[in-house]
Amino acid sequence: MSLPDLGILRRNWPGFEDPARTRVVRVGGVVLGGPRPVMAAGPCAVESYAQALAVARAVREAGGDMLRGGAFKPRTNPHSFQGLGREGLRILSQVGRETGLPVVTEALDPRHVELVAAHADMIQVGSRSMQNFPLLTEVGRAGKPVLLKRGWAATLEEWLCAAEYVLLAGNADIVFCERGVRTGCQGGYAASVLDLNVLQPLRAATPLPVIVDPSHAAGHWTRVAALSRAALAAGAHGLLVEVVEEGADRTRLRSDAEQGVPPGVLREIVAARVTA
Ligand code: PEP
Ligand code: MN
Repeated sequence: MSLPDLGILRRNWPGFEDPARTRVVRVGGVVLGGPRPVMAAGPCAVESYAQALAVARAVREAGGDMLRGGAFKPRTNPHSFQGLGREGLRILSQVGRETGLPVVTEALDPRHVELVAAHADMIQVGSRSMQNFPLLTEVGRAGKPVLLKRGWAATLEEWLCAAEYVLLAGNADIVFCERGVRTGCQGGYAASVLDLNVLQPLRAATPLPVIVDPSHAAGHWTRVAALSRAALAAGAHGLLVEVVEEGADRTRLRSDAEQGVPPGVLREIVAARVTA
């Protein structure tokens, strides 16, 4: 594999002397890239304070480390629920404080990055935005760790180049997130094909941690636990899992209604974590 000459590929950053080690990225008290896989979990979208709090409590009780949740949602259909926006951010940060879980949430628009950074502990760049270069630059300037999802049609090289934009803006606290790619072969049963094959070349190329989102590849909650185990076995430094509250009425959920795992399944996923 020949990769371009990028700073993101080099291991000789200040404070990073051992080439065999992963660069640790800290989010609040959570360490990404260490021996213990990090479990980030939460709703696809923040829909209300009560829902976000119920899910966050379930995440904490399951042994999760971080809370995920969307306030600005990238929706294919402009008529679909777009997220609660500022109100969603406010709810997320409050619920994060109440449960003691650091929060990761997506910034969709460069104009919102400062606002998102003020409420979140980590900024997510979504799959659809991986090549939104002004957004990457803005996120790189925001002074918060970045979760960089892979574009669903992005090569490894394109993904690394996206990280390079964040690095060039002055931020090396980047965590990659594999979330599945479109192949045309998933045949109606899945949203994407989870590319666990990419983890080793990515880990070999850069010292930055990589986590896996099994939920957006699975598309259905019944397949998430198996993909989670596979991702950790393949060398992921953690997972990003969508969760619904206990007894949730999926017909009322406003985004990704089928793929959030119930709290019991999250407990199983977290319990299967093995520290490297
Ligand atoms: C999400 O994490 O809610 C999301 C929209 O994911 P992706 O960008 O991977 O589709
Ligand atoms: Mn989702």
